[in-house]
Amino acid sequence: MEGSLTARDRVGIQDFVLLDAYTSETAFMDNLRKRFNENLIYTYIGTLLVSVNPYKELGIYTKKQMDIYMGVNFFELPPHIFALADNVYRTMISETNNHFILISGESGAGKTEASKKVLQFYAVCCPSTRLLDNVRDRLLLSNPVLEAFGNAKTLKNDNSSQFGKYMDIQFDHQGAAVGGHILSYLLEKSRVVHQNHGERNFHIFYQLVEGGEDELLRWLGLERNCQKYRYLIQGECAKVSSINDKSDWKTVQKALTIIEFSEKDIEHLFAIIASVLHLGNVHFEASAHGYATLNSSAEVHWLSKLLGIPSNILQEGLTHRKIEAKAEEVLSPFTAEHAKYARDALAKAIYGRTFTWLVNKINESLVNKDSTRKTVIGLLDIYGFEVFDVNSFEQFCINFCNEKLQQLFIQLTLKSEQEEYEMEGIEWEPVPYFNNKIICDLVEEKHRGIISILDEECLRPGEATDFTFLEKLEEKMCGHPHFVTHKLADQKTRKTLERGDFRLLHYAGEVTYSVVGKFHLIHKFKNCLLLFKVMRQSKNSIIQHCFHTIEPDGKKRPETVATQFKSSLAGLTEILMTKDPWYVRCLKPNHCKQPDRFDDVMVRHQVKYLGLMEHLRVRRAGFAYRRRYEIFLKRFIFSLHFTCKHALCPDTWPHWKGTPAEGVQRLIKHLGYKPDEYKMGRTKIFIRHPRTLFATEDAFEICK
Ligand code: ADP
Ligand code: MG
Repeated sequence: MEGSLTARDRVGIQDFVLLDAYTSETAFMDNLRKRFNENLIYTYIGTLLVSVNPYKELGIYTKKQMDIYMGVNFFELPPHIFALADNVYRTMISETNNHFILISGESGAGKTEASKKVLQFYAVCCPSTRLLDNVRDRLLLSNPVLEAFGNAKTLKNDNSSQFGKYMDIQFDHQGAAVGGHILSYLLEKSRVVHQNHGERNFHIFYQLVEGGEDELLRWLGLERNCQKYRYLIQGECAKVSSINDKSDWKTVQKALTIIEFSEKDIEHLFAIIASVLHLGNVHFEASAHGYATLNSSAEVHWLSKLLGIPSNILQEGLTHRKIEAKAEEVLSPFTAEHAKYARDALAKAIYGRTFTWLVNKINESLVNKDSTRKTVIGLLDIYGFEVFDVNSFEQFCINFCNEKLQQLFIQLTLKSEQEEYEMEGIEWEPVPYFNNKIICDLVEEKHRGIISILDEECLRPGEATDFTFLEKLEEKMCGHPHFVTHKLADQKTRKTLERGDFRLLHYAGEVTYSVVGKFHLIHKFKNCLLLFKVMRQSKNSIIQHCFHTIEPDGKKRPETVATQFKSSLAGLTEILMTKDPWYVRCLKPNHCKQPDRFDDVMVRHQVKYLGLMEHLRVRRAGFAYRRRYEIFLKRFIFSLHFTCKHALCPDTWPHWKGTPAEGVQRLIKHLGYKPDEYKMGRTKIFIRHPRTLFATEDAFEICK
């Protein structure tokens, strides 16, 4: 009826695949906004889940909600992260194969929250025995620990993950969670020593200072006052209203005990956290000759005590570097500038390695001791595509990671769509899509890619600088359609490109990277070798462990960060390739972390670079809608029977005795589908246009 809104008009459509104007970004946005305004934050594109951060509690994650979604067919209830989690789980059980859920989106879009909801769903809904309760608790409690050490308040998110995380949850043949394994990627360590305005260091530092017991703080030589620590106050926001450091401290303490960290481990762990704070307060002055002199006896005293390293050795390490003269090693004093650099490098190294130790320790406690057959659901919560005003090496890595994941998506999803048609014996026309392999190669190809050239320049003794790196890039990439620098640019582009920059045309858009001072080219690292060697004498078992591994000694060719990252991504790709993919795409509705605000321009931008329209096109390329015969039949057969007995249904439904396929055939004939509107596959019906389906739904609606 005109004038009255149908439910579909008001709350939008719960699967974009069914959107009539499916190629129109405007229609897509309208639907998303409509649903967001009704607090419906989830929408499907087929089996992909789109989620918009509501920035408010919606009360949709209760145990009751979990029960509602448990074991129910995916499309029968409103879209939900629990529906996806449940569907993945049940597919894993019935097909005994491995799966992964890739959660992507920009910082603050809700990735980490989504991954926690999935984990909670499994913790509550999977069968368990008393024996396995332990594993389940540890899986859940690994989160607050990793968040304390790996998350920080940033401008975009008060609880922003500073590392990429992949977590395997292992299930036995009864579907109980029996173990897990976590991989972490590229912890953003620079904030240990420096925070931008409005940002904080990692949560754990504030938790310790605010929440640590008096006795503990006394033992660590700390004062209960964040303002005393240089590493905590550069962002000028040690206190954040949305964060309760004191109670988070208690949670972390409890979690550490349940994950079975020994008392000694915990003691050593906090000795390290306190050491980093003391290290940050170590102060250097320049002597008359310009050399660094230490002016911080209290800090050195505490460092010496907490790390178990004699203070004279520490002092020497903090103010000298080792140089090799002929066959001898001699010590050469640092300038104050170099000493500060080495101090900060040490703080970052200590923190970064301790984080790796922590992840390994958690993994030990999650090991499934029973070696019987198990299947796996992997959860990947990883930084989305990043474009800032100034983009440095970190953004380069993150965006490369997204290129690799896009490549995986192309290989797994576009391929599997095609395979489904083949399996069902359905003809279809392939959709054209942009294959971003060319960009992946540009970055990672052996000997020729950007990372190889970066490595060469980093490891080349002598005169390598930011500019020689750029020149090499220009020489090798000249003519590549996805690479531009000032020199290679045309007249028009040149105006927007600085001489020290290069630009990559990523699949998701252009990003300009600043090389100068931002690609860690100048290799000051060697200056810190003495200090790192000093760490090996530590009596603190974690530090001992972390610095024991063979240090690059200048003789062996060390691996650069870029190469390490490249190989860890290759490892991740390998892990994911053997599993069935599921996707959650998280969107951020506004920049102000506010509820009920939907910024069109901003969301549209994310829709674009998350490739949602492309995904929709692929899903729609052949047939918009597909369902197994029995499910399709079940959906309509009862309404057919009960609501339109007279108008539509002359048969003896719902007591259909034939095969589901025959039933569907009959139903369709009755509804008058035209031959080009649908196809009958081996196990599923495929419907080309959503309007056909809507017509069917409406037919029943009218009868009601
Ligand atoms: P990301 O991991 O993508 O950077 P988070 O998952 O940490 O983002 O989410 C940022 C913040 O947004 C959370 O701390 C929470 O306040 C809010 N948020 C995210 N998802 C939801 C949700 N589903 N419901 C309510 N609030 C949410
Ligand atoms: Mg996060």
